[in-house]
Amino acid sequence: MPNLNPEDFTCPLPIMDYETIQLAHGSGGRLSAELVSRFFLPRFGNETLNRLEDQAVVDFPQGRLALTTDSFVVDPLFFPGGDIGDLAINGTVNDVCMSGATPLYLAAAFILEEGLPMATLHRVLLSMEKAAKTAGVQIVTGDTKVVNRGCCDKLFITTTGLGRVPEGVNISAANLKIGDKIILSGTIADHGMAILTSREGLSFASRVQSDTAALNGLVAQMLQVSSAIHAMRDPTRGGLATTLNEFAAASQVGIMLDETTIPVRSEVRGACEVLGIDPMYVANEGKLVAVVPAEAADRVLAAMRSHPLGREAVIIGEVVADNPGLVAMRTALGAHRIVDMPVGEQLPRIC
Ligand code: MG
Repeated sequence: MPNLNPEDFTCPLPIMDYETIQLAHGSGGRLSAELVSRFFLPRFGNETLNRLEDQAVVDFPQGRLALTTDSFVVDPLFFPGGDIGDLAINGTVNDVCMSGATPLYLAAAFILEEGLPMATLHRVLLSMEKAAKTAGVQIVTGDTKVVNRGCCDKLFITTTGLGRVPEGVNISAANLKIGDKIILSGTIADHGMAILTSREGLSFASRVQSDTAALNGLVAQMLQVSSAIHAMRDPTRGGLATTLNEFAAASQVGIMLDETTIPVRSEVRGACEVLGIDPMYVANEGKLVAVVPAEAADRVLAAMRSHPLGREAVIIGEVVADNPGLVAMRTALGAHRIVDMPVGEQLPRIC
């Protein structure tokens, strides 16, 4: 059956008769419509999406808007602790809420490779459905394209997110002030090492799990105790070191870290040591780093620790006048070293 051209049939051919994605599933014709109605709508359906218009028309509260978009090309599609589906939801939710915004709506665009097993697509959609529910966001519009075998690798997803920034919240990498405290929400390097060790088939590292998670609930809890958060980011590609370098450069201040305070799971540290990788540069997908005025630090820290995704939150350093634009670290041995920007991409196709 899969080798026959569906356009040759005059009777409706149910989509389930295909075990893999065909070029015709992206044709905009009958098979495209069936793919949407039988695969996408049952997972994501809501009043707006179900209208199947060319755009989503949604209610939007007054105020400032946060808008972000991200493409997900992670390899492998399924990895310990997550998959491309929950990553595509959580990554975009996180980029919206790092502004302090409440994420409201998502758009999702899929590029499918001809021959992709239907079962794989279904598994990814189930995971996206679950992640969107957990984060409390709706997918209100989307797109599906199919490309010839070899023109993409299995499945790529682009998600766009829209949120509302609460009044009085002004979060930016350029807002760091001398004396501010730097708070990290938990352990670093989990996601990147989960991808790398699963790709390399390193059995000793089988306990390494991605930390992929939506952080909007944690952010809401932080803003409840203080709206004075100066800067906030999720240290994804390039890891904690890159995010802090971006902060230091944008605000032209120095950052001094205390290495002993930065939490790394023992299995992640072990994998990093074997592979010669510095966890400071490895991607996270469910962590945030916030820069807050010293007087608010304890309050924000306590709020974070009372949330499941911030239980291991810790102050890792402070903003200083020395060495503007640079990140420095007191090492476990008491020496100081500069924590540079990475030169190139350490791990391709990590998200
Ligand atoms: Mg980000």
